[in-house]
Amino acid sequence: MKKVVLREDEMPTSWYNVAPDIPGGLQPPLDPETKEPIAPEKLAAVFPMGLLEQEMSQERFIKIPDEVMEVYKIWRPSPLVRAYKLEEALGTKAKIFFKNESVSPVGSHKPNSAVAQAYYNKREGVKRLTTETGAGQWGSALALATSKFGMECKVFMVRCSYDQKPYRKSLMHTFGADIVASPSPDTATGRAILEKDPNTPGSLGIAISEALEDAASHEGTNYALGSVLNHVIIHQSILGLEAKKQMEIAGAYPDVVVGCCGGGSNFAGLMAPYVPDYLEGKKIKFVGYEPASCPSMTAGKLAYDSGDVVGMTPLLYMHTLGHNFMPPGIHAGGLRYHGMAPIISALIRDDIIEPKSVHQLECFEAGVLFARTEGIIPAPETTHAIRGAIIEAMKDPNDPKTILFNFSGHGLIDMAAYDAYFNGELHDYSYPKDEIAASLADLPKIG
Ligand SMILES: *Cc1c(COP(=O)(O)O)cnc(C)c1O
Repeated sequence: MKKVVLREDEMPTSWYNVAPDIPGGLQPPLDPETKEPIAPEKLAAVFPMGLLEQEMSQERFIKIPDEVMEVYKIWRPSPLVRAYKLEEALGTKAKIFFKNESVSPVGSHKPNSAVAQAYYNKREGVKRLTTETGAGQWGSALALATSKFGMECKVFMVRCSYDQKPYRKSLMHTFGADIVASPSPDTATGRAILEKDPNTPGSLGIAISEALEDAASHEGTNYALGSVLNHVIIHQSILGLEAKKQMEIAGAYPDVVVGCCGGGSNFAGLMAPYVPDYLEGKKIKFVGYEPASCPSMTAGKLAYDSGDVVGMTPLLYMHTLGHNFMPPGIHAGGLRYHGMAPIISALIRDDIIEPKSVHQLECFEAGVLFARTEGIIPAPETTHAIRGAIIEAMKDPNDPKTILFNFSGHGLIDMAAYDAYFNGELHDYSYPKDEIAASLADLPKIG
């Protein structure tokens, strides 16, 4: 069997929330001013109650609203595919499966959460959402989602991506969103940063500050975040729950689950539904891959840190490189974030997830091999997961182990990155040790 396709009526009807199953639990988010656990009312300034309840929830299963399900069905359920041709090219006995999330209208897993977030905001009377986007994938997803629910959308797009990726802008415009390069003249944060450095490439941390400022200062406007937070990971569990069912139909069970990690949402979405099995003693490994140039899991610190540059977000207990860390301009824009989801960070602390880092050239090489064998061009972010799956498969090519990875998105709007790779313009960045140390020195002081 090459691929497993579920019927619509076989789709999961609830999301899975891993929070109650994390052995060491989660640390609460803190108020950036008082350093005490933050009051939900304070978060209610920019998030709807429906999402805040999920953020704090200890329920394992949360019903997917019918309105969300209806939009999911534009592309869901997504296929699970066996990568026979890749296995053959590698000469491995490993069975490699991938969950293909590139089939969504914007080409990645991100609409799984965007649609849910737009729905809960709409239900509570919110008319406009603001957000940041790095590579443009999250902005596209939220533009799609807000268009489905008749809402307005404003996207602060990190300057370097804004200049590199004109077609992401076209895509967001088509769905009716308003896009501006960040830092922008539209916010006090943006104006202050532009004054100091008019040529700054921007960063996700800056764009988040701007989107939050815009939401807090406009009536009827909320803010939406595309990764990191617990509610985003709950929404992404749809892909893991489907994959688990599809693996059963394929008569397979993963020895290793692999994913690429930016803020951690696609990998958590795939692996979390397997955590209960792991806790019951099932032998299964979870390995998350991040870029060596932005190594929050493998070289960052587990500490309370701000999610943005200005310090407006609650402090999250997470693996972080420090909120002032400016990652090098690698092409996997969606992996350039200083922090990692508290859920992923807690699962690393509890020795359930094994974090690893990889360099960009080996990832592009893996991505090109995947394209030429399996016929789908991966997003630069996704090549990190492919490289990870190949590393697992080649540890012992005679070991017939089963590997499952998430194909988080396609690269059809990222072809400039492939051109740069083929032209020899991409380089591996050495691990930015000094910058990380300097940035970690600025972590907020707690207690
Ligand atoms: C955003 C993105 C990622 C990284 O984000 P996570 O929250 O870690 O999943 C990975 N792949 C693609 C295609 C993306 O768009």
